[in-house]
Amino acid sequence: MLVDTFGRTATDLRVSLTDRCNLRCTYCMPAEGLPWLPKAELLTDDEIVRLVDIAVRLLGVDEVRFTGGEPLVRPGVIDLIARVARLRPRPRISLTTNGIGLARLAPGLSTAGLDRVNVSLDTLDEAVFRKLTRRDRFADVVAGLEAAAAAGLEPVKLNSVLMRGINDHEAPDLLRWCLERGYELRFIEQMPLDAQHGWDRSEMVTAEEILAALEREFALTPEGEQARGAAPAETWLVDGGPGRVGVIASVTRPFCGSCDRVRLTADGQVRTCLFAREESDLRGALRAGASDEDLAERWRTAMLGKKRAAGIGEPGFVQPERPMSAIGG
Ligand code: SAM
Ligand code: SF4
Repeated sequence: MLVDTFGRTATDLRVSLTDRCNLRCTYCMPAEGLPWLPKAELLTDDEIVRLVDIAVRLLGVDEVRFTGGEPLVRPGVIDLIARVARLRPRPRISLTTNGIGLARLAPGLSTAGLDRVNVSLDTLDEAVFRKLTRRDRFADVVAGLEAAAAAGLEPVKLNSVLMRGINDHEAPDLLRWCLERGYELRFIEQMPLDAQHGWDRSEMVTAEEILAALEREFALTPEGEQARGAAPAETWLVDGGPGRVGVIASVTRPFCGSCDRVRLTADGQVRTCLFAREESDLRGALRAGASDEDLAERWRTAMLGKKRAAGIGEPGFVQPERPMSAIGG
């Protein structure tokens, strides 16, 4: 098992498939993009499948989420998911995507064994979408959401980040839109993980503000700790249910105590936290011929460096060197 020194066990593995992306969300990347990882440094499909196999067979991981950058820009993503779905014990497999390309890929992903999808969409206004993502792809994301639901990748979850003065007035509209379509909406507080280091605590739209805005139009009933488990989102039933809404208050109500996640970057580094300042290299050992048991042992050792909490906003907090898109969000 992947146990840390605070007694938490990581069973949820987030695998970044690429640091590249076809959008340029302002809270994530600069307009010009980033210096992408050289291809030789990226794990190959075989290497990813081998490391995920070690994670599920030897280390107790039971959930694998593919992310990035934008995971759907990686060539061969459907085959990769099909290979992971053949591993035993078979992990639950999910994907976090900006939704571009999902209209075309959703049926194939579902057939390959993808169980669920989270699609990121921050606005219902095409002009705001263009401003926020610096690309004119709103319609593609909406089509992607529809295709995901049609392909049975349910419940389709939607991730939204609100930014002050840009889309922070849209919380109730986003929720109504999702309820009408059967999508489960989760708001994520903006975190200091952008490559430009432009995050400002005083500018951040807080969970409290989001909930206050929603409560002006909906009756929210907390689902409580039990429904949450190790999930980062606190959830509420909307108008008595069955629709619900979640808020991931990473900054104002951190949930590090129940964290069950561990990350593998596209270049084969284990990260025990989004905000970790250290990484443990598995790619080097893997390419030098390490055995499965040796790689598993390195992974277990890496977990011992997991900090008690991310400490965002605490004195001495330093943003990690890699931005979210290169870590795998
Ligand atoms: N490209 C995919 C997407 O956008 O869904 C997957 C990677 S993206 C880094 C994963 C999630 O992180 C998205 O929902 C995105 O909105 C969120 N995200 C990116 N930068 C963020 C930040 N600074 N604070 C909070 N969430 C962020
Ligand atoms: Fe790309 Fe996702 Fe970052 Fe937006 S949040 S720029 S879609 S990686």
